[in-house]
Amino acid sequence: MSGVSVTKDVEDAAGAADGLVVLSNVNKHFGALHVLQDIDLSIARGEVVVVIGPSGSGKSTLCRTINRLETIDSGSITLDGKPLPAEGRELARLRADVGMVFQSFNLFAHKTVLQNVMLGQLKVRKTDQATALEKAKALLDRVGVGAQADKYPAQLSGGQQQRVAIARALAMDPKVMLFDEPTSALDPEMINEVLEVMQQLAREGMTMVVVTHEMGFARSAADRVVFMADGKIVEQATPEQFFSAPKSDRAKDFLSKIL
Ligand code: ADP
Ligand code: MG
Repeated sequence: MSGVSVTKDVEDAAGAADGLVVLSNVNKHFGALHVLQDIDLSIARGEVVVVIGPSGSGKSTLCRTINRLETIDSGSITLDGKPLPAEGRELARLRADVGMVFQSFNLFAHKTVLQNVMLGQLKVRKTDQATALEKAKALLDRVGVGAQADKYPAQLSGGQQQRVAIARALAMDPKVMLFDEPTSALDPEMINEVLEVMQQLAREGMTMVVVTHEMGFARSAADRVVFMADGKIVEQATPEQFFSAPKSDRAKDFLSKIL
């Protein structure tokens, strides 16, 4: 029996060392507001972490620190074992390694769908035109909007635009994908087409951090649910554990309001 437990300890240690994104004791303030408080979070390669919590709890700020859209006051964040670069070319490369999909799709309005998905490849990854084109077409097909390639974003539905935004992020071959309420701005009938693309990505082994109020997605796709309130990680558990037996009063209260 001891052999079994030793093996497991070794695996746990290896898992921790293998954290693809590791936040250690991260603190951030906006003026007097302590928006992130002693955040420790290690996200393993291939793991899908769903972050939930009340509005204003710091979920977006947490995401934004992971690709340095926000700086932190103390603590550390590493990606693939390396600290986040502060600026310059290294920072641009980091941003390319961390795909981000926002609530508002943020596509370039004056570029076609195809150009949107090619741009980062050409500018940041220095991919040649032909390769970038082929890859963009393949990704657009994969998210189900191949037929829209030559249209402009405004000619697409919200669900289609968000799938283009996902394709654009994937075109950079990111190590991790961050989704900040990707379906919150969508009409209800378009939510599932976006969640299905995300489910597929999760099944394919993409490392994902997903802020969402879609509890169905959390139940089916998450390896772990992280519950935040008031700038802190209040509890984390598997979706089964979290939804059937939340431990903290904050989580119980939150779930009673949304389920
Ligand atoms: P959530 O995504 O969980 O709703 P946010 O991370 O967006 O929470 O915000 C957490 C808190 O930080 C909120 O009180 C919000 O008003 C505040 N906040 C967010 N961004 C800024 C900013 N740039 N300047 C000042 N306060 C901010
Ligand atoms: Mg938010």
